[in-house]
Amino acid sequence: MSEVQTEDESSLRFVLDHSRDAYFEFDHDFLLTEWNRRAEEVLGWTRQQVLGRPIFDMVPAELTDVVEHGVTVLRAGADDRRAGVHPRQSAMAVEMALLRSDGTTVVANGTVFARREGDVLRVGAFVHHTGSGFGLLEAPQERLHDLLTGLPARGLFTNRLHVALEGARGTGTVAVAALGLDRFKAVNEAMGHDVGDELLVAVVGRLRRAGGTERPMLARLAGDEFLAMFEQPGPGAAEWAERFVTRALATLSEPFQIAGHEIFLTASGGIATAGHRERATTLMSNAEAAMHESKAAGGDRYQVFSHAMRRQIVDRMTTESSLHRALERRELALFYQPVVAIEGEPEVVGVEALLRWWHPERGLVSPDQFIPVAEESGLIIPIGAWVLEEACRQLDQWRRQGPGALASVEINLSARQVDHPSLVATVEQVLEMTGVPPEAVTLEITESVLMKDAVGALQVLRALKGLGVALAIDDFGTGYSSLGYLQRFPLDILKVDKSFVDALEHGQGTEIVAAVVNLAHALGLSVVAEGVEQPAQLEALRHLGCDFAQGYLFSRPVPPVDLRWELAVA
Ligand code: C2E
Ligand code: MG
Ligand code: MG
Repeated sequence: MSEVQTEDESSLRFVLDHSRDAYFEFDHDFLLTEWNRRAEEVLGWTRQQVLGRPIFDMVPAELTDVVEHGVTVLRAGADDRRAGVHPRQSAMAVEMALLRSDGTTVVANGTVFARREGDVLRVGAFVHHTGSGFGLLEAPQERLHDLLTGLPARGLFTNRLHVALEGARGTGTVAVAALGLDRFKAVNEAMGHDVGDELLVAVVGRLRRAGGTERPMLARLAGDEFLAMFEQPGPGAAEWAERFVTRALATLSEPFQIAGHEIFLTASGGIATAGHRERATTLMSNAEAAMHESKAAGGDRYQVFSHAMRRQIVDRMTTESSLHRALERRELALFYQPVVAIEGEPEVVGVEALLRWWHPERGLVSPDQFIPVAEESGLIIPIGAWVLEEACRQLDQWRRQGPGALASVEINLSARQVDHPSLVATVEQVLEMTGVPPEAVTLEITESVLMKDAVGALQVLRALKGLGVALAIDDFGTGYSSLGYLQRFPLDILKVDKSFVDALEHGQGTEIVAAVVNLAHALGLSVVAEGVEQPAQLEALRHLGCDFAQGYLFSRPVPPVDLRWELAVA
């Protein structure tokens, strides 16, 4: 800036010096030409000290190339605009890191811009003052780079992504891949943090190799999640990202040798490609959302983000938040379906409690539509406790009034409940509170419970048996559990999945059902056939020696007032 200020310039000075934002400008040689009063306060350097010095003196060394690249992009933007429009300018919002005179770093949100007036190019930056100040950092290095792996951290990655997105306007493409390790937490807890740390470093080594000579920029987010950025002058960033993720998933699934342990990992991936005027943070959260979807689908896979996916996620979040209130607002209800003994004259011996949700707008919602959300969010714990209490309360009423002492109830438990340390105590409390005899209660679990953590499940099931309740394995035959599992767990009832019963209608599948019934009986379990709809199925089941049946043939699940304990037709 010249020594003699014009009137315009001095009123600009006045405005800048009274701004709550810190402000500085530099010229085409990156030399500082402007530094307002707020910049003096926030960064500690006086205007006099800095004018004429390169901006790089105020930027952490590892960010120098980001600044240079950013300025190139901004300049191109300022030069690119339609001729004749003055002033020509371009701007972008960034998170910037600046060095203070005392050597500490400030990271704050800001806006940088380039502006061409005739032949003069000005590049300037506002460091935004927010309600809480300028976002001073306690541990600046941790923020820019992850200390353990040396990879850039989220802030730095975001910064570079901003720049890439600006540069891609027009013909270029940008994609982001997110990778998360499946079950890293378990490794960390089981083997200790030192092993966990070493594993992470080894993972990064493999990710670097998966990047190959093209070396996409990698970053480590909190914990066990990583991002990679793909920037192409033409189309093709998305394909590159897919190639990288495919290689990464393959290489991460090879065993790791860490501190004498052989560790097996898998990972989940998500890929998002920048749309028109996509923001860096949106792109990153899309990639992460796709990665979480892959995780939820079982891991060891990747998915490409789509807007349909975002809608699904939003739907799920909407369901989750209304489910939160459903409990308080008493929108949940239990329906009951008779369980029928079929050996002689069909006779109702108990009921299965099946959860329903009276949704204020959607009407009656079936459990398949909300139990997965309840499981994922953890809401299944309070909901499951409510189901236990409500079903036992109803059973108590039936035992006093309705069918009397013969009434019994089957209650479904989800795997999350079995994993939760409170389950046994909750069941015990409910039994005590409602006063129903434990032998009138059967708890149903699915095969997945037995397969996931056989040791933990065994303890829980033994404790439940200790309370005196009966245990059933639900949907048997769908979960690929080996028959050997049945022997190891203290089960009383096996429920044959509807898919096998369906086949009986056409006179098929008799051998499978026969084998299951025989095996169950050999192990001392009684057998319930699920989803019996046709008299022919009932006949076949009787013939095969199946003990009990449930299905529309006898009754659909109904509210307690509609339940008939005597069968209308035999
Ligand atoms: P499930 O425990 O295997 O329950 C049997 C399902 O089959 C029920 O679906 C029932 O309505 C349906 N069904 C019974 N007979 C027939 C038939 O003849 N034909 C056909 N097509 N379907 C029949 P629903 O009530 O929609 O429940 C679905 C699943 O949701 C249940 O499968 C169970 O796994 C889960 N669930 C239900 N209530 C609860 C609960 O309170 N807690 C937990 N954790 N899960 C529950
Ligand atoms: Mg069931
Ligand atoms: Mg079932």
